[in-house]
Amino acid sequence: MTEVSVTKEDAVASGDLVVLKSVNKHFGALHVLQDIDLTITRGEVVVVIGPSGSGKSTLCRTINRLETIDDGEITIDGKPLPQEGKALARLRADVGMVFQSFNLFAHKTVLENVMLGQIKVRKADKTQAAANARALLDRVGVGTQADKYPAQLSGGQQQRVAIARALAMDPKVMLFDEPTSALDPEMINEVLEVMQQLARDGMTMIVVTHEMGFARSAANRVVFMADGRIVEEAAPDQFFSNPRSDRAKDFLSKIL
Ligand code: ADP
Ligand code: MG
Repeated sequence: MTEVSVTKEDAVASGDLVVLKSVNKHFGALHVLQDIDLTITRGEVVVVIGPSGSGKSTLCRTINRLETIDDGEITIDGKPLPQEGKALARLRADVGMVFQSFNLFAHKTVLENVMLGQIKVRKADKTQAAANARALLDRVGVGTQADKYPAQLSGGQQQRVAIARALAMDPKVMLFDEPTSALDPEMINEVLEVMQQLARDGMTMIVVTHEMGFARSAANRVVFMADGRIVEEAAPDQFFSNPRSDRAKDFLSKIL
């Protein structure tokens, strides 16, 4: 991946990257996303929090079109989400996604996991893909694990490989859906530190997490969801010290 040379302030100044307008989605009778309006600017780090079942994962999944929407509009870098085919594959590469479960290919080595998408989707040649993969594995601190298989790594190492794999596609935005929730406690920080560094490097990030320390130190903005709606949006300091809505107050009283 190329080094990000702009400062965070420069990046934010250059415009909107992910825009959701009046997005609605149902699962049968359940109105899981209700009139969602959300704009993420380039270089911004947005942490999404809220009770279980509030629609956070569904929100992430609509942004890279793992889920369709009923109405409304989602654009990435000014372009509406493609419906299918190669354009959709490219969109998914532009929107890196890291899940709670690491989802690495079990029968490929760590290095191959990070090379694969570059070759298949970005049409990189093998030598270039391997060099890029090694550089990214070094960057997330697992360079020495390149020739192992995922099952030989700890959960924290596997999640860092998953981050490297997403970064290998040179994404415009990274989505993280509870990336540390499946990890043993002693491995949470090594993953959060990689995410902190990415944020400092200027990556645009949408992060669903219960790690409030990360939200306080890395987020430009906290988005609080409940029952499929964005109930409150604020800077982290403001949100944690002075939540406006009763729903947010109630939620924070349970987790802090
Ligand atoms: P969160 O990530 O905030 O916990 P989710 O987006 O996973 O919330 O889920 C929101 C609601 O939608 C929940 O009630 C969940 O049970 C429901 N839901 C999620 N995925 C599906 C699905 N594929 N089919 C039906 N209901 C779903
Ligand atoms: Mg979820």
